[in-house]
Amino acid sequence: MNTQTPNPSALIVECPSCADTVTLTRRPLCGEVVRCGGCAVELEVVSIEPLRVEEAPQVQEDWGE
Ligand SMILES: [Zn+2]
Repeated sequence: MNTQTPNPSALIVECPSCADTVTLTRRPLCGEVVRCGGCAVELEVVSIEPLRVEEAPQVQEDWGE
């Protein structure tokens, strides 16, 4: 059902969590966090060339000891 429209300014990566396609509308910065539209997980850009993302570490609520 996904119609892939070629867009020279769009960058596409695969979500490592749900394998959905994440489209970036512009070139990201290394370390930038984007959100997957499929599973809403936060993805951190770890490499620009080639473009790679990894699941951003979950920030745990820490109430201290
Ligand atoms: Zn996902």
